[in-house]
Amino acid sequence: MTREEQLKREYENKLHALRKEQDNCRHEWGEAKYDPEIKREPYGFKTVGQGSHVWTEPVGYHDVEHKRWSRTCKKCGKVEYTKERVATKYEPKF
Ligand SMILES: [Zn+2]
Repeated sequence: MTREEQLKREYENKLHALRKEQDNCRHEWGEAKYDPEIKREPYGFKTVGQGSHVWTEPVGYHDVEHKRWSRTCKKCGKVEYTKERVATKYEPKF
C-alpha cells in the first residue's frame, strides 16, 4: 500500500468512527448562533451577441447572505444548520 492509500484509509476510518460516535451521541447542544451562508450569485442579466446568436450573461457576481443558524454538540462536535425559525415568545397586546 502506498503512503497515499494509507493516509486515505486512515482518514476514512477516522471519519467513519466520528460518524458512528455522532450517531450514537445523545447530543448536548450549545447555544444557537447566527451563522449566515454566503453564496456567490450572479446579478443583472444582459443580452450579448448578435443576430440569431444571442444569449444572456450576468453583469457581475456578488456575495449574497442567506440567513442561517448553527448549533454545535458539546460532546461530539457535530454541527447542525437550520434556516427555519419558530416564534418562541408571545407578549400581551393591549
Ligand atoms: Zn453529540
